[in-house]
Amino acid sequence: MSPTPAPQAVPATGELSTAEILQWQGKFRRVFVLLIGFGTIALKWAGVINSDSVVARATSPHYALVFGAVLIIAYLVFIQLMLGIIARRRFAGQDAVIVAVVADMLLLFSAVYVVTPPSEYSRALIIAIFPVQFTQLYFGQRATVYNLACVAVFYTVVVLAASDHGMLPELAERFWDLALFLLGTLLFVLLQGHIAKRLKRIVQVFEKAQEGDFSLEYDEAADRMPDAITVIGRAYNRMRGHLETIVLTDPLSGCFNRRGFDQLAVREVSRALRGNHPLSVLALDVDHFKRINDEYGHLTGDEVLREMGLLLRETARLGDVVARYGGEEFEILAPDTNHEGAQILAYRIQHAFRTRPFAAVGVERAVTISIGIASEIARNDQIAQVLIARADEALYVAKRNGRDRTELWHPGMRAFDGSLPGRRSIELNAMKIDE
Ligand code: GH3
Ligand code: MG
Ligand code: MG
Repeated sequence: MSPTPAPQAVPATGELSTAEILQWQGKFRRVFVLLIGFGTIALKWAGVINSDSVVARATSPHYALVFGAVLIIAYLVFIQLMLGIIARRRFAGQDAVIVAVVADMLLLFSAVYVVTPPSEYSRALIIAIFPVQFTQLYFGQRATVYNLACVAVFYTVVVLAASDHGMLPELAERFWDLALFLLGTLLFVLLQGHIAKRLKRIVQVFEKAQEGDFSLEYDEAADRMPDAITVIGRAYNRMRGHLETIVLTDPLSGCFNRRGFDQLAVREVSRALRGNHPLSVLALDVDHFKRINDEYGHLTGDEVLREMGLLLRETARLGDVVARYGGEEFEILAPDTNHEGAQILAYRIQHAFRTRPFAAVGVERAVTISIGIASEIARNDQIAQVLIARADEALYVAKRNGRDRTELWHPGMRAFDGSLPGRRSIELNAMKIDE
């Protein structure tokens, strides 16, 4: 057992620690040993099974049973001590697992030597299947290799000892039993390892999805022997698109929601950082939207937002990230776009608002918006947050300057202290832009 707990060996929250697993397995060890051990002794005592073991032949059948009982008690005491130490330390490493596995196998094969007739030694291999599977399931391949090595060594020792006593004439048969056991369990261990690895992949995919990132796909093609895990992976891959839409999109406007915007912003910022590209953020807010709600009702207000989402997505470029960021506030992240490009986009949007009546409110009711723009070459990964704050500031200035206009953020712009030094209203209508 490790003398000092290694902090990095403590698993992440949510995962069961080795100490926890060894603790609950303690109960199984005790019940298993008591049932099989004392069951065997009772059957022998009652004379139901009565062939001689090596020890019974060398001493007496009575002594052999007493030795068997002593072994069982010694094992139970050992397990109790080990669990006590683990409980005190609240930690168990791989070495504790190995100690437990060696103790299990030592008990099994010494008990077999003490009470079982040599002709039935293959029983020990049958019993060993259970602990080996347990080890594989909970502690992985390394511990299982130790377990199998213990089986091979201890089995060889008892077989050779029985043969020494002249009680085991067919040595080759006994080792053939061992070879079959090792082959079967090794195949099982490899299969289990393969399943565990693929389950881990599925968990990775789900964990990403939990964060709202659906970029990881389950690699079905890698499953050369498709099974239930492949089916789960396939089902996830089919759902991936729907989930992404549900989680990252605003159902009313059809644009990205805040989560979608933030996630795509991370991707666009890292792209811009790699290429030293400019990024622009446009903050858009409908002018006097409350009045629309008051005049036409909330449902019509919603309809306007729906039309607005469509209009913005149609007007922006394919690579632009258009999101509904709040009630009637939208944000557009325009990758690879400097302030001139952003102003052209803002112009196109305002032009569309002025020339395309909203069906929900009819031609007689103009819907206008104010836009704040912030642009910058990407130099650090905080750029998106900075641009959003600046665009918001510029939007506020646009509202203060009379609405239905666009303002470009610039150093010195102060939206929230009342003075607006260096105010620079952009007369987008006057710009000559080829649409
Ligand atoms: P301005 O922006 O020009 O200053 O005035 P405003 O009236 O638009 O004011 P503000 O942006 O602060 O108000 C937002 C209003 O938008 C408040 C709320 O009634 C309305 N709103 C927000 N979310 C929704 C929504 O999902 N549906 C509808 N119908 N209305 C919404
Ligand atoms: Mg508004
Ligand atoms: Mg608003």
